[in-house]
Amino acid sequence: MFHRILVANRGEIAVRVIRACREMGVETVAVYSTADKDALHVQLATKAVCIGPPKAADSYLNQTAVLTAAVESGCEAVHPGYGFLSENAEFADLCRRCALKFIGPSGDVIRSMGDKAAAREMMIKAGVPVVPGSDGCVADSGEALKVAEQVGYPVMLKASAGGGGRGMRRVFTPEELPAAFDAARAEAEACFGDGSMYVEKLILNPRHIEFQIMADSQGHVVHLGERDCSIQRRNQKLMEESPSYALSEELRKAMGEAAVAAARACGYEGAGTVEFVLDKENHYYFIEMNTRIQVEHPVTEMVTGIDLVREQIRVAAGLPLSFTQEEVRLQGHAIEVRINAEDPANGFRPCPGKTEFVHFPGGCGVRVDSALYNGFTLSPYYDSMVAKLIVHAPNRLTAIRRLRRCLEELVVEGYPTGADLAYLILYHSEYLRGTYDTSFLEKHLEELLDWQELPSEGADE
Ligand code: ADP
Ligand code: ADP
Ligand code: MG
Repeated sequence: MFHRILVANRGEIAVRVIRACREMGVETVAVYSTADKDALHVQLATKAVCIGPPKAADSYLNQTAVLTAAVESGCEAVHPGYGFLSENAEFADLCRRCALKFIGPSGDVIRSMGDKAAAREMMIKAGVPVVPGSDGCVADSGEALKVAEQVGYPVMLKASAGGGGRGMRRVFTPEELPAAFDAARAEAEACFGDGSMYVEKLILNPRHIEFQIMADSQGHVVHLGERDCSIQRRNQKLMEESPSYALSEELRKAMGEAAVAAARACGYEGAGTVEFVLDKENHYYFIEMNTRIQVEHPVTEMVTGIDLVREQIRVAAGLPLSFTQEEVRLQGHAIEVRINAEDPANGFRPCPGKTEFVHFPGGCGVRVDSALYNGFTLSPYYDSMVAKLIVHAPNRLTAIRRLRRCLEELVVEGYPTGADLAYLILYHSEYLRGTYDTSFLEKHLEELLDWQELPSEGADE
């Protein structure tokens, strides 16, 4: 086992990794930008190294600075968390060249899955169903028009290097395609430095169902069930749950096996997620594989009782998985809500600021993953997610009740958050019935925001 790991991230995921390391008796080295000198991950780590100014490109994305910190502080491995360098194949390669174990799959695997158009091709070869679409990338909007004609409208134009819901556009008619294509390509170039685009059929109002995968270096590949992440804003997840109401035991088995086949096809190692969209007729289609630990991983940890970060570290150290597929049992129901410092009434605009006061809920079946504390100032340079509330209960309705209770207890003062919106979602009949799909929030946002403005709500403010 490693003696010392560098945690190449910030915020709640850095804290999450440090906690796992502590429990395993592994020392940690935190890295931080000058904006994060008072951050929680810096205080919890065994040691901390400043790696540059606030801008992520100059600190958390500065590969030389991160690697230098790792080597000079005597680390044997690097945990990249999510975001930042976690899906950077070049960084994974550089770690290896510096004799550091990158806690994740190899650079080649990251490369092959990070190119979403190429990943589709690999999945087709592995017999995993993919959304009908282009063979690899399209050169220009003219070629996109031809593919769209073949697969039929509506279509989704997607950036091959895309992530976080960026670089994608829905297109319903040929007339609107060229402009949408240019806009998506420009966004992809700005966000990812890569404007390669591909075309998929737009699956109308699907559910987003993803499978958690764990693979070790000895060739064992297992899945840990699914997460339903259909509550999304701008193609980005807001609430996640496991198990999904949309899956029968039979469908779960088939999709789980497809996810394992996907991981095997690329020679996967570590924790990963295979994402699918599921249509109204229960057809499922691979959309992408995320080659890292995911924001919503605690939902799976709650229903399986397996510590995924601990397992990542064990696998990276060369140990076999500590469980078999047969030993994975989904127990009860877990739901996560992401608390972001943002204003749902203003297009979910990020609203960083000083945390005047914060109080987190607790009690039976409650988990809070956060790096927030009283007085901590959110930097505009980083992601707006400030906390994740996760509940676990014997069944879905009890989990919903528990999460409502948690949101009633939660206090975050200093900036707006999406907590009230999440609370209202938990009372929506479509959510309660479990029949929602990825169009839920778009469809109901106005109505939910109206509800938030009830006079009785504002009376005591
Ligand atoms: P990202 O890398 O940004 O996460 P994904 O390919 O995972 O991109 O897509 C993000 C979300 O966009 C999905 O969860 C789903 O809601 C929606 N989406 C993606 N592809 C399609 C599609 N072909 N049809 C319908 N919805 C899609
Ligand atoms: P997920 O399915 O895990 O939400 P996404 O593809 O939506 O995956 O995005 C990856 C996650 O990484 C997002 O939740 C986002 O908040 C996080 N992320 C992306 N870029 C950054 C960044 N620069 N700093 C911190 N977190 C980031
Ligand atoms: Mg995705």
